[in-house]
Amino acid sequence: MKKRNFPPLAQIICYKLEAKNIKPNHYNHLLMHVPKSHPRYESLMKREKIIKGMREGIVAEAGLIAHGRGEAFDYLIGEKTLPEADLAEKIAAYHLILAKRPLISVNGNIAVLVPDDIVRLSELLPAKIEINLFYRSEERVKKIADLLRKLGAKKVLGEKPDANIPGLEHSRALCTNEGMMMADVVLIPLEDGDRAKALKNMGKITIAIDLNPLSRTSKESHVTIVDDVVRALPRIIDHVREARKKELSRKSMVKEIEEFDNLGNLSKILERMQKDAGSRF
Ligand code: ATP
Repeated sequence: MKKRNFPPLAQIICYKLEAKNIKPNHYNHLLMHVPKSHPRYESLMKREKIIKGMREGIVAEAGLIAHGRGEAFDYLIGEKTLPEADLAEKIAAYHLILAKRPLISVNGNIAVLVPDDIVRLSELLPAKIEINLFYRSEERVKKIADLLRKLGAKKVLGEKPDANIPGLEHSRALCTNEGMMMADVVLIPLEDGDRAKALKNMGKITIAIDLNPLSRTSKESHVTIVDDVVRALPRIIDHVREARKKELSRKSMVKEIEEFDNLGNLSKILERMQKDAGSRF
């Protein structure tokens, strides 16, 4: 491997790792040097986090593909928060404030992309955190729980599931009585369509974060935030803080929740995608 083109720090890492007989393909991601001025800096850094998360056993291999699908839709919306997404983020914040037992569901991608924001939001509300994996392995659940605890999460549910979501097959159904079963409002970033539907069938208010406005999850949820999780989580936190600062009444939040039309909002996003993508030629 030619190391002379690498930046100085990368060269040092290279030599140190080679001295320990670690092969180059194991540390390529450490050597990637993307200047902040690079037009795709944010996007490339997110990829790096996902790849690193997969190598560390936190992200499932399929998580890389899911991320790629998300990137494609993010490209179509111009990699920014649309007004429709901001509205959904505000409505999500109101639901979470008004909830009796809110819960944030976490998977591998979320754990590597926005771990701090998950912990911050759970403390702010407060809301429980539960790990729910599509490709469940006990090892991966533990790694995610450890990561969140290291960042300050006092309690992370999901390591010892004692309940099942009705209508799903075994490993995808696993959840806890204390968390998912009891929750009235659930934030489900990057959920799959079957589970989103099953949670809705259980009578829960479901808030999805999904860049694909056409996914089953997006269509099944009560509130769908079509935005990257990296932008969406901090904005939900801001909306919670703002609502509290303004001392909004329960009545005014309920009114805005009732006026919100999720499918109407999704179709506005689709129209915007078509128009904006066309005008970028
Ligand atoms: P469904 O089962 O709901 O029809 P799907 O089969 O496309 O959807 P998955 O592959 O389980 O769903 O989930 C990945 C979803 O998460 C995709 O729709 C993708 O757009 C979205 N996604 C991936 N990364 C992000 C991200 N960083 N922020 C928001 N959404 C994302």
